[in-house]
Amino acid sequence: MDIIAPDDDRARLESLTVDAEPDTLTRIHVLIREAEAEAGRTCEDCGKPGKLRRGGWVRTLCNEDWVRHQRRHEDDGAGSNT
Ligand SMILES: [Zn+2]
Repeated sequence: MDIIAPDDDRARLESLTVDAEPDTLTRIHVLIREAEAEAGRTCEDCGKPGKLRRGGWVRTLCNEDWVRHQRRHEDDGAGSNT
């Protein structure tokens, strides 16, 4: 895999370029799909097993962080009604 930074003359027109053989690109895409699947079952706050929670935002949280998240929003909602 090649990671190419543009030289000084082209740096103003181009950004970093990543190039790889087709087999490597296929492996990269597999790793991305695995990471996406893992993210859908891992709490984004603490890393414990979690699941997608839908509310104002879609987040992946374990049970403890989901309860904490809901309490935080209940507190916010109570404050905005005054
Ligand atoms: Zn958590």
